[in-house]
Amino acid sequence: MTGLASFRTLDDLGDVTGKAAFVRVDLNVPMDGGQVTDKTRIRAVAPTILELSGKGAKVLLLAHFGRPKGQRSSTQSLSLVLDAVNEVLGKEVMFIPEVAGPVAAQAIGILGPGDIGMLENTRFWPGEEANDPEFAKSIAANGDLYVNDAFSAAHRAHASTEGLTHLLPSYAGRSMQAELQALDAALGNPQKPVAAVIGGAKVSTKLDVLKHLVGKVDHLIIGGGMANTFLASIKVDVGKSLCEHDLTDTAEEIMDAADQAGCTVHLPYDVVVAKEFAPNPASLRVCSVHEVAEDEMILDIGPMAVGALADVLKTCRTLVWNGPLGAFETPPFDTATVALAKTAAALTKEGSLVSVAGGGDTVAALNHAGVAEDFTYISTAGGAFLEWMEGRELPGVAALQR
Ligand code: ADP
Ligand code: MG
Repeated sequence: MTGLASFRTLDDLGDVTGKAAFVRVDLNVPMDGGQVTDKTRIRAVAPTILELSGKGAKVLLLAHFGRPKGQRSSTQSLSLVLDAVNEVLGKEVMFIPEVAGPVAAQAIGILGPGDIGMLENTRFWPGEEANDPEFAKSIAANGDLYVNDAFSAAHRAHASTEGLTHLLPSYAGRSMQAELQALDAALGNPQKPVAAVIGGAKVSTKLDVLKHLVGKVDHLIIGGGMANTFLASIKVDVGKSLCEHDLTDTAEEIMDAADQAGCTVHLPYDVVVAKEFAPNPASLRVCSVHEVAEDEMILDIGPMAVGALADVLKTCRTLVWNGPLGAFETPPFDTATVALAKTAAALTKEGSLVSVAGGGDTVAALNHAGVAEDFTYISTAGGAFLEWMEGRELPGVAALQR
């Protein structure tokens, strides 16, 4: 991964007074009954918007919302999030029901230095997802520069995430910059030793992540349902557990590759099992991985494993975490995830560990553990975070290189 120094940020902007600055943001917020139920994504991009506005730019927000598939849809208009954006910014934003063309040009012309406009959902036009250069050109015609503050959309080469960067001087916004900095500290240029915790349901959804990480980290800690597939590959009988038996050869290959690369793979040696998947089931017990009965399921890793993993983290300087260690939505199968998350949080607070985590369920699990504030960085980027864990170059990020 390219070092952070090679990205243009808002620090590289010259005088932007009166210039029209497109800012690609993530406003894909959850809604219920016409109300935005979680403003986290709006808060994340507010600093960039306010900084540009404060510097006297005309700020033009560009974002997608839902999946309208190239057509206008009244239920997916960005006008629905206008009130929430106004509230978070503490400013009146002008809604512009187009992204390009004469109506957009006229509206943008009315804006003065420091004013903020919000353009309509980019995905109302098929040129957005097709990354049509003509569509990008029609947008770019009304602006002077482009800022990308939406890491979460950077894995897609769309007109508003990639196309515009070929047409206008382009910069990373503050939220994008923070994300790139955190990811660089975790896997680009990390302090060693580095540990990765990879959990979650299935090996099949994270094959490329695992393959990439074995060459990057010193300790690969495998938990969750995917540990079952690895255990099965070393001839452990996992009973009725979630397990991809067709991927045991692949699991073996990953362990061989880890061996070659000097990466230690950690599999649990004790586990929490039950006969039925329900909250606090009567059949719950803790046992060695070699004692799982035919009618039992592994639903969490065990306390001895958690203790050993905490000791591993104590020897590490960097941690990257994706995927819960157990079926954390159902108590008590959140126990291992919560315990190891607390250890990581405490080590981070002490200053001995840089901890970066991401993934939809991982973020939920770490919030549930009450440690989200104490991790160095938690990425809410979902798909983009996973692609970055796979070692891929994200088109929206690559385009911001100097
Ligand atoms: P993320 O969204 O953070 O990338 P995943 O989607 O890969 O994470 O995995 C999360 C899911 O894995 C959770 O719903 C959790 O219940 C499930 N899971 C974890 N461990 C197990 C297990 N032992 N058996 C079944 N499901 C599990
Ligand atoms: Mg998930």
